[in-house]
Amino acid sequence: MGEEKVYDCIIIGAGPGGLQASIYLGRYNRKVLLIDRGGGRTQHARHIENFLTQKAISGKEIIELGLQQARSFNVQIEKGLITNVMKNNYFEVYAGDKRYLSKFVIVSSGVYDNLPSIENLHRFLGISFFTCIDCDGYRTTNKKLVIIGNHIKTVHLAIAMKDMFTKDITLVLYTDKAPYEYKEELADENIRLIIGRPVRIIGDEKMEGLELEDGQKIECEVIMSHFGYKLNDSFLSGLNLKRDRDDFKYIVNSSYESSLSGLYIVGPLNTGNDQVVIAAGEGAVAAIDIKKRLLEH
Ligand SMILES: Cc1cc2nc3c(=O)[nH]c(=O)nc-3n(C[C@H](O)[C@H](O)[C@H](O)COP(=O)(O)OP(=O)(O)OC[C@H]3O[C@@H](n4cnc5c(N)ncnc54)[C@H](O)[C@@H]3O)c2cc1C
Repeated sequence: MGEEKVYDCIIIGAGPGGLQASIYLGRYNRKVLLIDRGGGRTQHARHIENFLTQKAISGKEIIELGLQQARSFNVQIEKGLITNVMKNNYFEVYAGDKRYLSKFVIVSSGVYDNLPSIENLHRFLGISFFTCIDCDGYRTTNKKLVIIGNHIKTVHLAIAMKDMFTKDITLVLYTDKAPYEYKEELADENIRLIIGRPVRIIGDEKMEGLELEDGQKIECEVIMSHFGYKLNDSFLSGLNLKRDRDDFKYIVNSSYESSLSGLYIVGPLNTGNDQVVIAAGEGAVAAIDIKKRLLEH
């Protein structure tokens, strides 16, 4: 049996973070393996308008172009679901029974949205049903907006959106406890507050409204949903990596290296913001740092 191949770097996740890192490392003529299970959050972004030089581009296009670009620099790309990462002499990256070895690892596996269970949601996701103020707040400008959430922070979001985007806001909180301490402020801001559970989006081609469990119908053109997200990180559970105070996001240094030497974490898994340009920038920084360290080996 021949010796097992050792990659310079294995990159987990072919979103903007992983693709940008792989392009840098490919262009340093390093042995790079990029593994992705398929799908991914960027694919849901239909109109990205805040990425430099792109008036509007879909997430799908960014990923397809990125994969082509990475291949052109000899990055090896494989489809696979990473199930475990360990560190012994080298990093051992497992996709089920399959094992890959590498000197460095970049984790860029992203997050997934906690979407409420509402009939018709997927018809409008990324078109008029949004989950992120930085991505799509602008697209609600001067529109009839419903904001839905289950947290007191949703109240802050509503006040911020009123300040920047639209005066016509109904806030629907799916919670047992009305935020009485904010009642006056919301009234001053002219934001309608309803405590209730959304069950269906009304509309066919175009969003027309939101129906609540009690039968109430609220007219709207756009919805901003605020239920947070979860990390795609189950394969990191054996590594005991340091996390933030809420025991949620991973702590990294200025080169995006985690508390485990040689393992980098880019994109919304770390404590930074969740944006394409930021994930890509972090991927570039991590790759440049790995290039330097490979030269020291
Ligand atoms: C509806 C919507 C609209 C958005 N609009 C914008 C916008 O306008 N502008 C903007 O900047 N950002 C926008 N975003 C956010 C943007 O999509 C994220 O910032 C971006 O996805 C982060 O990139 P990433 O590389 O970290 O992760 P992702 O793009 O999520 O990529 C992670 C990849 O890792 C893969 N993966 C996960 N787990 C595993 C595993 N165990 N094994 C192998 N592969 C795995 C996933 O399948 C995926 O392909 C939007 C997001 C959504 C949902």
